[in-house]
Amino acid sequence: MRQIKTDILILGSGGAGLFAALHAHQANPDLSITVGVKGLLGKCGCTRMVQGGYNVALAEGDSVERHFMDTIEGGKWLPDQDLAWTLVSVAVERIRELENELGCFFDRNPDGTIHQKAFAGQTFDRTVHKGDLTGIEIINRLAEQVWARGINRLEEHRAVEFVKNKAGDALAGVLMIDVRTGEFVFVQAQAVLLGTGGGPTMYKYHTPSGDKTCDGMAMALRAGLTLRDMEMVQFHPTGLIAGPDTRITGTIIEEGLRGVGGQLLNGAGERFMQNYDPRGERATRDIVSRGMYEEMRAGKVGPRGGLYITMRHLDPAMVRRMFKGMVERCADCGFDLVSGLVDVVPTAHYMMGGVAFKTDCTTDLPGLFVAGEDSGGVHGANRLGGNGVANSTVFGGIAGDVMPGWVKANGAFHEPDQHALDAAIARCRAPLAKPAGDVNAIREALYELMWDDVGIIRDAASLRRAESRLDELDARLDGIGVESGDLAFNLTWHDWLNLKNLVLVSKSIRFAAIAREDSRGAHFRADFPAVRDLENSHYTCVTWRDGRFAITTKPVVFSRVKPGETLLKKEIAA
Ligand SMILES: Cc1cc2nc3c(=O)[nH]c(=O)nc-3n(C[C@H](O)[C@H](O)[C@H](O)COP(=O)(O)OP(=O)(O)OC[C@H]3O[C@@H](n4cnc5c(N)ncnc54)[C@H](O)[C@@H]3O)c2cc1C
Repeated sequence: MRQIKTDILILGSGGAGLFAALHAHQANPDLSITVGVKGLLGKCGCTRMVQGGYNVALAEGDSVERHFMDTIEGGKWLPDQDLAWTLVSVAVERIRELENELGCFFDRNPDGTIHQKAFAGQTFDRTVHKGDLTGIEIINRLAEQVWARGINRLEEHRAVEFVKNKAGDALAGVLMIDVRTGEFVFVQAQAVLLGTGGGPTMYKYHTPSGDKTCDGMAMALRAGLTLRDMEMVQFHPTGLIAGPDTRITGTIIEEGLRGVGGQLLNGAGERFMQNYDPRGERATRDIVSRGMYEEMRAGKVGPRGGLYITMRHLDPAMVRRMFKGMVERCADCGFDLVSGLVDVVPTAHYMMGGVAFKTDCTTDLPGLFVAGEDSGGVHGANRLGGNGVANSTVFGGIAGDVMPGWVKANGAFHEPDQHALDAAIARCRAPLAKPAGDVNAIREALYELMWDDVGIIRDAASLRRAESRLDELDARLDGIGVESGDLAFNLTWHDWLNLKNLVLVSKSIRFAAIAREDSRGAHFRADFPAVRDLENSHYTCVTWRDGRFAITTKPVVFSRVKPGETLLKKEIAA
């Protein structure tokens, strides 16, 4: 096993990871900083895939208070209010940094101010963007800056386990696998940032990049950390259906299409969203996804099993101009977005839940920090479109500011618990010692079961059914092996490890979903359809110890505003 020592290890190179690396380097250039990432730095993760843009209160008439209220109301009063306040206030600083220090070019108005567009669920046009391919601009500039600073990189290295010291009270480092060779690597670090980006890729239709398989959340569970809000999985209404043979199926075509008047049709060619909400196609993501799912359950589907979006009643030049990237993506898959029908289906997009953390990105495990989509509590029951990339860049930067000071004050290179290290290696190697089985069949079964039983609409019966189905899949996975002749780029082995993590995190979603007996935001229980008792809101906390899940709930602390109140009135009164 290769051994590496670094002061700060950053897992993941999305908005969270790269911002953390840059800020940590700025805070103390003498520290050794290493980014360990499953893919290639600058080419993987979801920040690169951001289409719509970045929410920030910049324009006259908007305010951080207004952005905050939209975030709290969008999150159905479940967000941690101090985390949400940090998000909206530091976003202002972060967008300036992206433009002025890192060199991003965002779209501008004729008067030179930054253009900000409308996004669902917001009371002000505040989404900064670069056309409809904003993430490429952000990640390219961040990656260039990281390359320029000589920060160490472990590319195509996947993290598999947090390893604590012998006393079990501090993090010693992270066990990783070099995907290029199959070799185990132990990276000893004083501080570690978890920024592997969650990603609900256990559902039949999903949007995130293929490298994301909830590895970080599963590692956190195995390390005894608490995950909060895990029942909150956001479905985006318009995922492409491009056939079973392409990974592009499930990936989104953007919300702005519905914003400018795009219409959803069922398999019979009828508009239906007015039957579910007076706002029709412009209702929020959760409502549109549920309306679509109901149509699909009623069998009103097209030949590919989904529904349609169409723009053919709108000005073709406007559609081509405003949605260049989407028009091209649809054309790549054989669809004419400008004048035809495009097959779409609701698609699992984002996990609001994740590792419980504080505003300085610390977690319950000394030495472990978290930022971005791996963390929980910022968005509550629903994330506003445009708040995802703000979340990863805001908190990634904060983690980068905090970790060097933490290393100076509290840091140490702890020796890893050898027993824990050996057990982690044995767990990863387990499938190499068994006859090869059909990993793909298990993945397909997981997709179907999560979509059917733990998906857009759940109830006690479906969630109970999912419990035994998930246990059965886990046992099937443990029973099969993979080809072990060559471990270099042995992707079937990595798929097995991915699935193991996805099944564990799926179980945590199911546990949280059965505990929440009301409907809030992304979580809809057919047996408890009402939103209940906002004033006494509680959030769910899942832990996994000694092979068993435990669930508790905690009251939301309304530290800044209570249900029924608004900061805007206070702002006006002041
Ligand atoms: C198609 C699409 C469009 C989106 N559009 C928007 C939008 O318009 N606005 C918005 O606000 N949000 C949007 N989002 C959400 C947004 O992309 C995410 O919220 C945010 O970028 C997540 O950032 P992150 O740094 O946490 O994770 P990511 O950017 O996903 O990065 C995760 C990193 O972790 C690495 N990794 C994963 N597992 C491991 C492992 N085991 N070991 C080491 N490294 C690992 C990955 O390779 C990757 O480098 C969109 C998401 C998608 C999928």
